[in-house]
Amino acid sequence: MVWIEAVCQQRHYPWPGRLRNAPAAKWLAQHITGLALCDDAQDAADEITDAHKRVLRVIDRPAFRQYQGQCEICQGDLYGYRDADKITCAQCSEVIRKDVNDRRLANQLEDKLCTANELVVVIADRFGATIKPKTVHDLAYRKTNPILVRGSTYDEQKLYRAGDVFAELRKRKVIA
Ligand SMILES: [Zn+2]
Repeated sequence: MVWIEAVCQQRHYPWPGRLRNAPAAKWLAQHITGLALCDDAQDAADEITDAHKRVLRVIDRPAFRQYQGQCEICQGDLYGYRDADKITCAQCSEVIRKDVNDRRLANQLEDKLCTANELVVVIADRFGATIKPKTVHDLAYRKTNPILVRGSTYDEQKLYRAGDVFAELRKRKVIA
């Protein structure tokens, strides 16, 4: 830790040697006055606060929180509780209304190109409906108003626009 070195040099403390994170944090806590008296104490405070925040971000990801897409402000990953009204971006602290974010994600999803297998998973996840990959392929084989195949993956799986498939399944009352 750079800051232990700075404190030892500037305050003439004995160098404790290379420490792992926990003992290093303990050493700094015990020598906090020495650290505060260092020329660049403010930088130390900023860096340590930042390191602390980064650690919190890593551990503060329990299973109850779900990925909520990317923050529109800073592009950071958003995590939120399913039944919360608001999501706070861990990176830029922007507070986002969850219903607004849900609609934004739903719109993004509509435009995604997916394979039939991916759509089976997405539809189960979002709408709680069980379909087969064949159901999706069949929508593209119909004589009248078939949905369009929008491309294919490198391994030749057909790609469909998720919104096209949702719309057809809604017409058939498979999903709400
Ligand atoms: Zn953000």
